[in-house]
Amino acid sequence: MTRPLLRVDRERCIGAGMCALTAPEVFDQDPGDGLVLLLRADPPAVHQAAARMAAGVCPARAIAVREE
Ligand code: SF4
Repeated sequence: MTRPLLRVDRERCIGAGMCALTAPEVFDQDPGDGLVLLLRADPPAVHQAAARMAAGVCPARAIAVREE
């Protein structure tokens, strides 16, 4: 099994919040500017499916997933 390693691009993020709704243990939104905050770049197994899903629903394609 591979595990997803995450990166976020705050330059691309538009603050839509889908990631934080989909995987709240992995992503949050900055209370100041609303942009994505990555809480866990290497999420534990229990949060990996949600993290992948969050990358898929991001409308700005601001979340990169590398499978290792
Ligand atoms: S879903 Fe994408 S655009 Fe929306 S806050 Fe998360 S990273 Fe930013």
